[in-house]
Amino acid sequence: MIQDFVKRISTRSASITPRFISRSWLIVLIPSCITLTAYGVAEFGPKEEIRLNTQTEPIATPPLSFAQNDSPIWHEDVIRAGDTLSAALNRLNVDDKDAAQFIKTDPIAKSLYELHTGRTLRAKTERSGALLELHYLNNKSQEIKITRQKDGFKASIDEATTQQHTVVKSGTINSSFYASTDQLNIPDDVTKQLIDIFSGQIDFHRGLQKGDRFSVVYESFTHDGIEIKTGKILAAEFSDKNKTLQALWYTPPGSTEGAYYTPDGHSLKQSFLKNPVEFSRISSGFKLRFHPVLKSWRQHKGIDFAASTGTKIMSTADGVISKITEDNSGYGKHIEINHDGKYSTLYAHMSAFTPGLRQGSKIKQGEVIGLVGATGRVTGPHLHYEFKINGQQVDPVALKLPTAKPIESRYLAHFQPIATQTRNQLAFLQRIEQARAE
Ligand SMILES: [Zn+2]
Repeated sequence: MIQDFVKRISTRSASITPRFISRSWLIVLIPSCITLTAYGVAEFGPKEEIRLNTQTEPIATPPLSFAQNDSPIWHEDVIRAGDTLSAALNRLNVDDKDAAQFIKTDPIAKSLYELHTGRTLRAKTERSGALLELHYLNNKSQEIKITRQKDGFKASIDEATTQQHTVVKSGTINSSFYASTDQLNIPDDVTKQLIDIFSGQIDFHRGLQKGDRFSVVYESFTHDGIEIKTGKILAAEFSDKNKTLQALWYTPPGSTEGAYYTPDGHSLKQSFLKNPVEFSRISSGFKLRFHPVLKSWRQHKGIDFAASTGTKIMSTADGVISKITEDNSGYGKHIEINHDGKYSTLYAHMSAFTPGLRQGSKIKQGEVIGLVGATGRVTGPHLHYEFKINGQQVDPVALKLPTAKPIESRYLAHFQPIATQTRNQLAFLQRIEQARAE
């Protein structure tokens, strides 16, 4: 019966806008939906677990005993900003000169001196403070273990075993998008992916409004119950009063390269990014202007992005470097990238190239190719960006850029059921969020 209810709601969802759901409906909806969340989400992946709902089970509490007891104790503490290893070990009740000496000299154990804020350090000690075991998970998802042996200590470093989970988060924008993602504890890497996925459709600086809602489903990897990294976004949605934008990750059968699509099969990948630098504004467009250095009126055949020296420059599309040089052209240190023959982009006045790049290097969209600078004929640091079609500079702002290809027709039969399921699940999450927010 519950499943029928879900199905009914899901199939209706595409056609009703939240506005038409009356309050009395919501009263029925809230309790039903909450118990059903796990059901709706479990289908995002076969081997994944749900982390959304916490189940509390009553357990028998053993009687607390403060009597003398010789059994070893596990202590656990979180690394704080500015922490030192000795301070952290102190808090863990470790009082062991031999252990300290071992950590100082052993090549593996030494890496414990590089602690990372927020990571957990766990120690098993005797009552006396003698160290028996020490576990630390570094920021490369490796676990460093120090173990007491008969004749001293042994250190090991191994890839930490992780468990994969699917995490679901839904929110309503109250002040800014970034404030909402912070409030929901959405990791920065996931927020960045959300922006990348929807950047062709949503202006994240000005386009979102109070009351707009979003949902995101992403992979998370934990070790001993602690999230150590996040993976990719599996599905996401933004909706306002008028429209809903959805994205899902899809990998065609037999392929290893997935991409984001709308549920009707259109690719969300933009053939060209709008901005080669993050968080900057256009300081000079494609137009006739009085050249500040040459003191004459000339056509400005590119777009200038205001950014300080050292800001990362990204390639706006996949391509191959056709030029990487510093010459007397006025461009200073510059890179030109060829995209499929017809299109090319040029990035000028750089302070540095990404080490290892040379003519012929293959570049991915969004890959950092160098840093903003003030080399060549300039009055100050900025990125001069040119977009060329068949070698002729054009104004990329005015240009209708080609879109990436939709799902190939031979994959549609495989894609469609997945898309329908995702669409229903996202609609379902949105209704829960709507009910919660009202
Ligand atoms: Zn310029």
